[in-house]
Amino acid sequence: MASLADAGMKFTTLPHPAPTSDEARAAVLADPGFGTNFSDHMVTIEWTEERGWHDAVIGPRQPIALDPAAAVLHYAQEIFEGLKAYVQTDGSVALFRPEANAARFNRSAERLAMPELPESAFVEAIEQLVRADRQWIPSGEGASLYIRPFMIATEAFLGVRPARQYKFIVIASPAGNYFKSGAPAVSIWVSDYTRAAPGGTGAAKCGGNYAASLVPQGEAIARGHDQVVFLDAAEHRWIEELGGMNLYFVFDDGTLLTPELTGTILPGITRDSLLTLAREEGLTVKEGRYGIDQWRADAESGRLVETFACGTAAVVTPVGKVSGRDGEFSIGSGGPGQLTQRLKDRLVAIQRGEAQDRHGWIRKIG
Ligand SMILES: *Cc1c(COP(=O)(O)O)cnc(C)c1O
Repeated sequence: MASLADAGMKFTTLPHPAPTSDEARAAVLADPGFGTNFSDHMVTIEWTEERGWHDAVIGPRQPIALDPAAAVLHYAQEIFEGLKAYVQTDGSVALFRPEANAARFNRSAERLAMPELPESAFVEAIEQLVRADRQWIPSGEGASLYIRPFMIATEAFLGVRPARQYKFIVIASPAGNYFKSGAPAVSIWVSDYTRAAPGGTGAAKCGGNYAASLVPQGEAIARGHDQVVFLDAAEHRWIEELGGMNLYFVFDDGTLLTPELTGTILPGITRDSLLTLAREEGLTVKEGRYGIDQWRADAESGRLVETFACGTAAVVTPVGKVSGRDGEFSIGSGGPGQLTQRLKDRLVAIQRGEAQDRHGWIRKIG
């Protein structure tokens, strides 16, 4: 079915009739924010049951026409990815582990009954876009071009079955720091809502999971917190993750713990990379369960010294304060802990091409 793609997808290039002026782009790049500005181009690839993947196009970024009965609008057949292109210290441009995003995209596709896209086509689409919009990559600390590949069901029908027509799209957004600087650590609210239940879609990166997290996230904000943390659905006891970031706990004996991937947690690529980097440093990292009561007790006794959240968008972010129905507790000094900072620096150094890439994580774009 994906024969065309397997043979190497041919991209049609449509020149942009009116690209953003150098002046206007410079103004955006001077203060890119996060997720509100977009580059000039986009990639689209079509899929139908009869033809598989076809019509790969890189062209001007523009609105897409959808039939009002398009399946994505009614039954939420949508999946996405998020990764970044970085300007390296030598001036070249690189992606960080795009093959891992491609693999996860296909696992999400499988869960949402959508067609898989060959990994080579996924990566090629991103490279095409980054090449076309090379000038949209901001440089400077914490800056990058955030890339958003996604797939939607476009077939027009009202009925509950997998669609027979899909569109894969990649767009890009110049990004500064995800969290406004000045905040040394985030404060999080322990939600009574759950994000994912056993057997559900928690391990898939799909829009539906995020739709369901908006009320809990809004509740956190309304209570004066930055982020929400979700506990497991069955016992409402085991810590899972934030709305869009995984968690790590650091103990006074120098060991780390991150919740194990039991199917209700999104398998973050940042989480996975930090697991490797920490072990490389000789640290003991466990993947296991950690209860909310234990978290509080350990924070209060001093056995727990740091907690951080991690993900592509926010990289590594310390958690300083935790509140829930049962009250509040602080972690460490309330600012970024030593190990949190060290792991973040190591990861960022690799992403920026400042440190040796021992794991083949960096993919340079020529
Ligand atoms: C994307 C995402 C993460 C982080 O994954 P990365 O690959 O590290 O960016 C964590 N949790 C959820 C729910 C996510 O959607």
